[in-house]
Amino acid sequence: MLKEEISSGGVVVFNNAILLLKKFNGDWVLPKGKIEEGESSKDAALREVFEEGGVRAEIKEYLGEIHYTYKENWDENRPVHKTVHWYLMTCKNMETTPQKEEGFVEAKFIHFNQVLSLAKYNDETAIIEVALKKIKSRR
Ligand code: ATP
Repeated sequence: MLKEEISSGGVVVFNNAILLLKKFNGDWVLPKGKIEEGESSKDAALREVFEEGGVRAEIKEYLGEIHYTYKENWDENRPVHKTVHWYLMTCKNMETTPQKEEGFVEAKFIHFNQVLSLAKYNDETAIIEVALKKIKSRR
């Protein structure tokens, strides 16, 4: 039987840069995390951006969802089907604090020119592209 997991995260923009987090293994990813019981997907996204990157952001609009399936090491036979909701966010400065306890060694605003090639997962790159289109149409 499939296990379902729902997370929520942010594409956080400051000037011409987007917040990415670097994991211990070197992968650059967007901030996200599981939605808690009774929590809205927006609140979860804002909370995770703060917990993982130390950034206080505000939501501008919904960007869409991605889906992937992965296997937990301790239960190979029960794949996890995951949905992640993404929000476009802005913030007022570039200060970050990566959460070492959650395995992030760096939290950094990466320029629009570099962010697509740096992001590890294709589905996160696609969401960043959606965000970039929306930002450019807003400006
Ligand atoms: P969360 O950040 O939502 O609390 P988590 O840290 O428990 O989640 P994931 O980040 O979903 O877990 O990672 C679980 C597995 O899925 C890992 O093997 C990871 O490499 C893989 N994974 C993470 N993000 C993606 C993605 N966008 N596309 C495909 N696979 C991914």
